[in-house]
Amino acid sequence: MKRIGLTGGIGSGKSTVAKMFEEMGAVIIDADQISRDLMRPGSPVLAQVAETFGNQILTNDGHLIRPELAKIVFSDSQAREKLNSIVHPAVRRHSAQLAEEAQAAPDFSGVIIEDIPLLAETGQAHRFDAVVVVEVEPDIRLQRLVQQRGMAEDDARARMATQASDERRREIATWVVDNSRSLDDTRAQVEQIYSRLQDM
Ligand code: ATP
Repeated sequence: MKRIGLTGGIGSGKSTVAKMFEEMGAVIIDADQISRDLMRPGSPVLAQVAETFGNQILTNDGHLIRPELAKIVFSDSQAREKLNSIVHPAVRRHSAQLAEEAQAAPDFSGVIIEDIPLLAETGQAHRFDAVVVVEVEPDIRLQRLVQQRGMAEDDARARMATQASDERRREIATWVVDNSRSLDDTRAQVEQIYSRLQDM
């Protein structure tokens, strides 16, 4: 089994590239999806988060109020680290379990792609056999976040600024996918990487 980390800045096209790998036969593990699942009402992870940041992050019926939590951690790096220290180990445990389950499936292709937005920031590259970094030219990335996601330009810039730079992500990359052009162009790059993965 090969475990491949996939990362990139906000709106770089991680999900798009993950889907292409999936079409080629890889199993995808989505860290964002797992962390959302781990924050469902009544979960032990959410209980720990509420204990740390206060019940104002929960609705009366125990749902996470995401913007409330985002407000707390966005401007306070210590709070952000605290949140990460609760959520990330839980995500890692769940990912490992999903990887084991995937491996046990009779039609398993041998390649697991883990989509992890903060792979560079959290120093996890060593856990993977290879790392794929998705990049988009900054102006185009901003344009996509604003036009396709409806984000305010200032918000998009601010979110980009809290994340690692493309240069820093490139340091952990085995391969870089440039997703600045058409989807077909990106797919051709992903195909090439997938075939190299088979030879690893
Ligand atoms: P996030 O960081 O928010 O999880 P992401 O890195 O997973 O985002 P995607 O959701 O895959 O990024 O892509 C961001 C947006 O850009 C989406 O609206 C997607 O449809 C669009 N997009 C991705 N690749 C291309 C491309 N090559 N050409 C045009 N639009 C694209």
